[in-house]
Amino acid sequence: MSAGRVAVIGVGVLGACVGWNLARLGADVILIDAGGPGEGVTNWSFSWVNASNKTERRSYFDLNVAGIDAHRELAGAIGPDPWWFPTGHLRWADDPTALFAKAELLARSGYRVEVCTGAEVCRRFEPALALPAEAPVLYYPDEAWVHGRHLVGRLVGEAVAAGAELRSGVAVREIGVDADGSVRTVALSDGSRLDVDIVVNAAGPSAAGIAGLLGRTFPMRREPGVVTRLACTQVPIHRAMHAPHIELRPDGADSVVLHSREIDALIDTGKEPAELARLLHESARRVVPVLGDFPVAQARVVERPIPADGFPSVGAVPSVPGYYEAVTHSGITLGPVLGRLLAAEIVTGQRDELLADFRPERFDRP
Ligand SMILES: Cc1cc2nc3c(=O)[nH]c(=O)nc-3n(C[C@H](O)[C@H](O)[C@H](O)COP(=O)(O)OP(=O)(O)OC[C@H]3O[C@@H](n4cnc5c(N)ncnc54)[C@H](O)[C@@H]3O)c2cc1C
Repeated sequence: MSAGRVAVIGVGVLGACVGWNLARLGADVILIDAGGPGEGVTNWSFSWVNASNKTERRSYFDLNVAGIDAHRELAGAIGPDPWWFPTGHLRWADDPTALFAKAELLARSGYRVEVCTGAEVCRRFEPALALPAEAPVLYYPDEAWVHGRHLVGRLVGEAVAAGAELRSGVAVREIGVDADGSVRTVALSDGSRLDVDIVVNAAGPSAAGIAGLLGRTFPMRREPGVVTRLACTQVPIHRAMHAPHIELRPDGADSVVLHSREIDALIDTGKEPAELARLLHESARRVVPVLGDFPVAQARVVERPIPADGFPSVGAVPSVPGYYEAVTHSGITLGPVLGRLLAAEIVTGQRDELLADFRPERFDRP
């Protein structure tokens, strides 16, 4: 079955995963980004691939487990370099009671988790950590982190090699429909107009604006986060981790990324990004003292792309023929699985059961 011409609006991790899968299925794809591919939220993410933090609803947990599996398959298909880091995840807390209760439930459902002591962690995994020897630490061996910008670069390169077209630095300004309301054209900020049969809204935090071009109200939640990069002459950590008050991960050969929900909560108090970065750096050096020697290189406040109920909005919107959404938080974890399922739905019309709870039409109900 041919889908006709598909315009993917937004080339972050979601748009790149949808576009790559569409190109593999032989669809006629054009990838459009207002900036550079992978330079949106995808470049300012903690980028932890996990399902252990997604236990609020069974179907959401299952989708995230499928997300981890899809990353492994993707690494098999395109190679792991330089984006896939399946190095597991470490997690500990000042009061570990809740973390350990959850870990026990996860272990009972077959999700792999090990309990270590601080001394073991320093010996086996992370010698640079300042961890009390007896501190209990959870190790999730099947979790990972992803270099989002590099992943997008790989997928876009492969999609273009397979025949997709890339238009970067141009924004979608209008979406035209025909008499029966079906998508027909997209108008771009450079004055051009493209004939299309399908559009995929993968515009991340700008997704509500793209939906609005079609008269659709797509409610999104505001939840900004602040991410900081340290410039390191030598990266002293080897995996992503949640320590008390701070999350840390490597970011390639010369950088470490810092994030904390506690610091995110200060964004609306009016503190400058530089001050938020200083607070993140202070927390990080308590966990990895040598990080105190490395300067803050970048700090950015970004909006998470979160539909109002907190869950993904993925699939066809039946009230607008030819219009699909691919909008979610946890998009690093979910990109590869959502890209595969959505591309198959566009090309074959088959709706996968894994997406049953995450259909866009739930926002149409009064
Ligand atoms: C602080 C923070 C921590 C996070 N931690 C994690 C984590 O640990 N694990 C995890 O799985 N997820 C995490 N996330 C979420 C994850 O990063 C996002 O869900 C994911 O990156 C979203 O990707 P995207 O492709 O939807 O959006 P983006 O990467 O923002 O891509 C959207 C693209 O659309 C383009 N665009 C916008 N408007 C237009 C237009 N009109 N025309 C053309 N193009 C347009 C933009 O230029 C942009 O490139 C985190 C997010 C934040 C902010």
